[in-house]
Amino acid sequence: MEKKWVYLYNELAQAEAYVGGKWDDVRGLLGGKGANLFEMYRIGLPVPPFFTVTTEACNAYLASGSKFPEGMWDQMIEALKGVEEKAGKKFGDPDNPLLVSCRSGAKFSMPGMMDTVLNIGLNDKTAAGMVKLTGNERFVYDSYRRLIQMFGAVVLGMPDEAFEDVLEDFKKEKGAKADTDLTADQLKELVVKYKAVVRKHMGYDFPQDPVEQMRLASEAVFKSWNGKRAIDYRRATNIPDTLGTAVNIVTMVFGNMGWDSGTGVAFTRNPSTGENILYGDYLLNAQGEDVVAGIRNTKAIATMGEDLPEAAKQFVEITKILEKHYRNMQDVEFTIEKGKLWMLQTRDGKRTARAEIKIAVDMVNEGLISKEMAVKRVTPAQVDAMLHPQYDEKALKEARAGGRLYAKGVNASPGAAVGQIYFDADTAEKMAKEQKQQVIMVRPFTKPDDVHGMLASKGILTSEGGATSHAAVVARQFGVPCVVGASSIRIDLDKREATAGDMTIKEGDWISIDGGTGEVFTGKIPLTVPDLEEQKDLLTLLNWADEISRLQVWANADYPKDARRARSYGAKGIGLCRTEHMFFEQERLPIVQRMILAESHEERKAALDELLPSQRSDFDGLFEAMDGLPVIIRLIDPPLHEFMPDEEKLFEDVISMRVKGEVEGLSEKEKLLASIRSMHESNPMMGLRGVRLSIYMPEIVEMQVRAIFEAAADCAKRGITVKPEVMIPLTCTIKELEWIQPRLEAIAKKVMEEKGVTFSYKFGTMIEIPRAAVTAGEIAKLAEFFSFGTNDLTQMTYGYSRDDAERNFLVKYVEEGILAKNPFQTIDREGVGRLMHMAVEEGRKTRPELEVGICGEHGGDPESIEFCHLVGNNYVSCSPFRVPVARLAAAHAALTHGK
Ligand code: PEP
Ligand code: MG
Repeated sequence: MEKKWVYLYNELAQAEAYVGGKWDDVRGLLGGKGANLFEMYRIGLPVPPFFTVTTEACNAYLASGSKFPEGMWDQMIEALKGVEEKAGKKFGDPDNPLLVSCRSGAKFSMPGMMDTVLNIGLNDKTAAGMVKLTGNERFVYDSYRRLIQMFGAVVLGMPDEAFEDVLEDFKKEKGAKADTDLTADQLKELVVKYKAVVRKHMGYDFPQDPVEQMRLASEAVFKSWNGKRAIDYRRATNIPDTLGTAVNIVTMVFGNMGWDSGTGVAFTRNPSTGENILYGDYLLNAQGEDVVAGIRNTKAIATMGEDLPEAAKQFVEITKILEKHYRNMQDVEFTIEKGKLWMLQTRDGKRTARAEIKIAVDMVNEGLISKEMAVKRVTPAQVDAMLHPQYDEKALKEARAGGRLYAKGVNASPGAAVGQIYFDADTAEKMAKEQKQQVIMVRPFTKPDDVHGMLASKGILTSEGGATSHAAVVARQFGVPCVVGASSIRIDLDKREATAGDMTIKEGDWISIDGGTGEVFTGKIPLTVPDLEEQKDLLTLLNWADEISRLQVWANADYPKDARRARSYGAKGIGLCRTEHMFFEQERLPIVQRMILAESHEERKAALDELLPSQRSDFDGLFEAMDGLPVIIRLIDPPLHEFMPDEEKLFEDVISMRVKGEVEGLSEKEKLLASIRSMHESNPMMGLRGVRLSIYMPEIVEMQVRAIFEAAADCAKRGITVKPEVMIPLTCTIKELEWIQPRLEAIAKKVMEEKGVTFSYKFGTMIEIPRAAVTAGEIAKLAEFFSFGTNDLTQMTYGYSRDDAERNFLVKYVEEGILAKNPFQTIDREGVGRLMHMAVEEGRKTRPELEVGICGEHGGDPESIEFCHLVGNNYVSCSPFRVPVARLAAAHAALTHGK
């Protein structure tokens, strides 16, 4: 049987059978727009008759170098007959003409990135016929001139301005302000002018044959899959190039047939806040692109009942049916032709992170979806966006009081952004990428060609357009703060400046925009991180996530204030406290240096005794903040030279003192320099650090363990439940633990005896060296827990210096595809991951109850979290700010792979 390239509106079952029944594959074949048109038809909604040419046909066309695959064209002609029959009209028939639109539609929506042509089928004859039929000459010639312009621009590749310039002059000549002021006769005249524009530019006439129009438009849609805008968009959204676009040929219905007609776009809930109210715009006597382009001022959908009560009522009912059917917020396009409502499109609406979360939670409460579905629907990136910076309240007030409020527009995509302004996409992208500037792109309105600049910007500001304009839709999807329609701003693209009232800002000036309120300020306003406590929907969602997860999420925190933040973000323990950070504090560093340079045990002991109280109080604060939860404290890890003054700088000082003949303090400096030089190592990261340092100089860790247990005992006495876990870093062989651990455990016991309290505790180790992973079965004989230090484990497995690799060759390795990803960000499953797997398996053979976690940077990366779930970790530990994201990622892992 001949391959089927084309499906008629009532052939959804055949498409399902062809792909094997899965809806996702139906979307792959028919495109998202097409698939949903079929679905709407199936559930009985008013959809104009249509057919769809598959994405397979597009791929075949592009692969063959622009030839329709065999049979496709005949099938289109056949399907056209089916559409004619259902519509009761005939393509090209002057007495009863059928007009169609030719719309692109890929599996994943790529708003505005590919081509669409409306009013196909109009020519001089059918136009005359339409006038007879409708008695509305104005509408017919308005549609005809639109077809010629769109066809010229999209299919024939002519510049838009060729038509726009003629239109502007023509309107001036006729004294018309808006397009709608032009009379029927004037539009008829305009059609003649437009045809002449085509002839002049192309050297041939606008094609009069409707079938030829359909053929050329379909080809243009196929080709637009490989247009620059579409490719840029796919790169940014990770949509594979191989998918292709479908072509939808849809019977035209007309929103520009008079004031009982109209067209609009709407979201079934507010896409910015998630509020459960219809949200969108419509225009009477207009065609779809007028609304989307934001050229004419639209009306809010809530007022549609006043203009067209019947259609408005039906529309509200349909949006409810659609939400129930798709169990998701929908973004719909509709047209009303002489009072009759037609649905032209529905798809899951793009929305802000905030709206996504609110809608998911609300839909669970409304009984539309399950908690699991709600959790699954929200992405880690969206949770991340919720914790994005906002303006510092005080600074905001000051900016307001200081008269820096420059303009106010529509709050199209939330979040605050501060940056330097640029007036076109290319410059915005260049300044962001090459000059590393924070950029805010400012335009009258944006078009799909501007997407690269929008993606490179921290914020977007337009003076025209509404909440569903191109700028708004794209910004929301990418989480870029955006204000649109700030109509008090006059942008002068030639002078490269923008004026609102008496304030003028020039290219390169700083502004601050708030996509949550729509406000625009001159100058910079400092940003702060929002408080999770106030985000009730997110908290609810994350609590559901915790119910689903198997992995717990802990946090890396060195100070009590970090621990408190981590806990408020939902951390169930501290997975890493890097104790050495406390040594760097200003008043402690000299004592630490004295301790390192000590020449006798006594001298060293004296310095450590001085450090002990401050370490104890650090730990005390941590235990208090984490009352009832485990706290892993890691013993000193870095090489000692990190605590010492810079060798080069010291050397310069010594030389300069010698040259100047300064003697006071010189010998001390010379001695210090000699000591630092004696400590020099060629490869300090592989040298005297971690457990090696503890064995070489046990006094330090002995002090640390004493401080930990004294603090824990004091807390326990105050009624705090303490669960200390002492972590020994950089273990390579069990012999190291055999040497150090018993000494430390003895101190722990002694302190508890001295203090007269007991509590449970653990001693464990980090797995950071491949040898430790390979011999984990041995190591688990002493270690009661493992924590993967995947920063070092990656460094040592690859043999890449973690401090240097990211600065030089790593980028090239990723670009060249030698590495799929930066292994310091996402766990390399085949190599590092294999070692982890082995360590968990071997470790638990020795000690079945072995607690396993991760505290390297990977602990906050969703893909690595999924891997930790698969490996059998008990928890992941990450920075406090990443805890919410990690909680969601942990739940996703459980939903995908089972608990
Ligand atoms: C690690 O190596 O992954 C780790 C957490 O330790 P650090 O980064 O302090 O070396
Ligand atoms: Mg480490």
